[in-house]
Amino acid sequence: MTRSTTSSGSSGATPLLELRGVSVSFDGFWALNDLNLSLSPGDLRAVIGPNGAGKTTFLDVITGKVKPTKGEVLFHGRSLVGRAEHKIARLGIGRKFQTPRVYQNLTTRRNLELAVSSRSGPFELLFGRLDAEARDRVQHLLGVVGLERHAGQKAGGLSHGQKQWLEIAMLVAQDPQLLLVDEPVAGLTDEETERTADLLRELSGDHTVLVIEHDMEFVRDLQSPVTVLHEGHVLCEGSMDQVQSDPRVIEVYLGSETEGEFN
Ligand code: ADP
Ligand code: MG
Repeated sequence: MTRSTTSSGSSGATPLLELRGVSVSFDGFWALNDLNLSLSPGDLRAVIGPNGAGKTTFLDVITGKVKPTKGEVLFHGRSLVGRAEHKIARLGIGRKFQTPRVYQNLTTRRNLELAVSSRSGPFELLFGRLDAEARDRVQHLLGVVGLERHAGQKAGGLSHGQKQWLEIAMLVAQDPQLLLVDEPVAGLTDEETERTADLLRELSGDHTVLVIEHDMEFVRDLQSPVTVLHEGHVLCEGSMDQVQSDPRVIEVYLGSETEGEFN
């Protein structure tokens, strides 16, 4: 059940994910415009940019929801362009949407059991027969996201932050190599936000993690390289300190409708 992948060190030269000259036109409007980006195995990367910069479209071209008009999306050096969404997911790309999608009426543990056994057949899913290895994995995941004490509680009763962590654990249960996380801390308390940054930092290394987020304190807490998108193009890349003091970045944010606020 646990997929063993080749170790990340063995093929250091090939990026895990590479976008080459990716452009997306929606009826003549270029939502992405010659976008280039590369991630190595185990990387943690934050992507920021003003509203309309193309952040969501960028995730959509990776997951196969939107097909690039031009350019290449490569995963392990193999093209993803033209593949169906579910096939791309099965290659090891998991996406966490902004709103948690957990089964509210099932317990935290049961949610995770379903995620762990989603590679099994319908019979196992229906009758809930988990082998010892799967049960251990559920217990391990509960620990990773700090929800052991809430294992028996219905997911509907968890806090918003706890639901986000449960959903992250459900994604990790499927052992994706690349985790795409869209605005994970919107609506979370400060403490939950800090814990989410810790969690994503811990998950990187074993997984490659790409996070889109508006909350600048959170992005700083990730301590990762930051890519700034603007008009569908990479404006700059660097540490949080570097991008925040880059005059081009300041200008883009000051000129945007959000009046100087990073988002
Ligand atoms: P972000 O997530 O950074 O706010 P998006 O990727 O959602 O930006 O959108 C980038 C630009 O593309 C925006 O101007 C948006 O209006 C436009 N756009 C996004 N999806 C579509 C679509 N399906 N049809 C037409 N325009 C779109
Ligand atoms: Mg968006």
